[in-house]
Amino acid sequence: MSEMNKDDDFEIEAVEELETKKEEDSEEEDYEDICYLCRRPESKAGKMIELPNNIHICSDCMQKTFDAMGKGGFGYDDIMGMSNIPNISMINLADLQNTVPKKQKIKKKKVNEEKKVPELDIKNIQVPHKIKASLDEYVVGQEQAKKVISVAVYNHYKRVATNTMDEIEIEKSNMLMIGPTGSGKTYLVKTLARILDVPLAIADATSLTEAGYIGDDIESVVSKLLAAADNDVEKAERGIIFIDEIDKIAKKKNTNQRDVSGESVQQGMLKLLEGADIEVPVGANSKNAMVPLTTVNTRNILFICGGAFPDLEEIIKERLNKESSMGFKADLKDKYDKDPNVLSKVIVDDIKNFGMIPEFIGRLPIVFTLDSLTKEMLIKILKEPKNAILKQYQKLLELDEVQLNFDDNALESIAEKALEKKTGARALRAIIEEFMLDIMYEIPKDENIGRVTITREYIENIGGPVIDMRGILNLERRKML
Ligand code: ADP
Repeated sequence: MSEMNKDDDFEIEAVEELETKKEEDSEEEDYEDICYLCRRPESKAGKMIELPNNIHICSDCMQKTFDAMGKGGFGYDDIMGMSNIPNISMINLADLQNTVPKKQKIKKKKVNEEKKVPELDIKNIQVPHKIKASLDEYVVGQEQAKKVISVAVYNHYKRVATNTMDEIEIEKSNMLMIGPTGSGKTYLVKTLARILDVPLAIADATSLTEAGYIGDDIESVVSKLLAAADNDVEKAERGIIFIDEIDKIAKKKNTNQRDVSGESVQQGMLKLLEGADIEVPVGANSKNAMVPLTTVNTRNILFICGGAFPDLEEIIKERLNKESSMGFKADLKDKYDKDPNVLSKVIVDDIKNFGMIPEFIGRLPIVFTLDSLTKEMLIKILKEPKNAILKQYQKLLELDEVQLNFDDNALESIAEKALEKKTGARALRAIIEEFMLDIMYEIPKDENIGRVTITREYIENIGGPVIDMRGILNLERRKML
């Protein structure tokens, strides 16, 4: 009986050993050798010659070494100790016995598994309410904007999938997004691209210039998109290009100088927005003789332009007041002066008055606005989205088995501070990082800490956080039971 057991044990051990070996082998396959001399990996330098002590030498280096030796006319014995020969640095393998690290390998780059991008199929396009529901998980508030964007995107990809519909060409759904700094314009577009799994390029209108001027020429946005699509032209042609700070290329009023950055850039963008074949360099930012070019058609690329459009409110108010001071509505004069949502009453004429040329606005048929963030929205942004900042910090401390709480007053205080900075939700992270630095530094010092509660007093620098020890927490827990 005991004999049998021994046999069984042996067998199990043997199987285990085999399995570990298999695992090791498959791990090994994930790594590649690097040449001890030129440091190139196997994928670049080709098959390696294996020497003792885990040293690998590529055939190029081996060849060079022998060539050099050939010229000098040395024999093998000379070679192994030839460190004093000029221009040839040789290794003495014997010296390396203990100095060579075991792993002379770097992780192989994963060969892109053939990830088939699903062909856009009209039945597969997410319907608007589903797109909006996904956006809701990340973007707080901005209900109208999320609705408009979901419908526009749905229509856009329907148009892409069908090409034309009964000979009626559906207009391109390029968008113009107007909203204050930090209200979530970029974030909305980034989230959208991720949900739809399409490549996205983000460019800043202020950096764009006409070809020939210093700066990125307008077409460089398309090469950015191509890079985001891993140089897959077909994928890029279904992507999204977001051009931020579009208000900065408004036509300047009352200038006699040639307007390089404004109107001419708008002019230059017209053909992109509408759809054109653009020659772009592959794998580089600028065209030059050394890089191959490829053609990307922008017809099905969705362009979203965004900007804060300061002073647009004044233009809208002026128009509204003018309208209301005429005829029967005269008594309503000045009623818009205190309207917080005046931006949402924007019409194309206002944008024209702001300095965008009619042809440009004409190619962005969908115009919508984002609200400025209120204190309540900022608090929600702190804690509700799937990847909310507070959740991220909580997760980090959870790894140290410490609970992190923020009391309601603390959240209000953070939101108030952010509002003062007038940069929307952008200020939140900076404020939190400032006081969390101390917490993240101090807490791991004491293993007995079980819970930290951030208070308004701590945020306003007039008190500290509430710290609870593990022992007390355990007592509390026991009492609850
Ligand atoms: P902008 O409108 O200036 O482009 P961003 O989109 O860059 O502003 O916003 C800055 C950051 O603030 C984002 O990365 C995001 O984390 C956060 N944020 C802004 N608005 C919202 C929102 N409505 N919901 C959730 N997070 C937001």
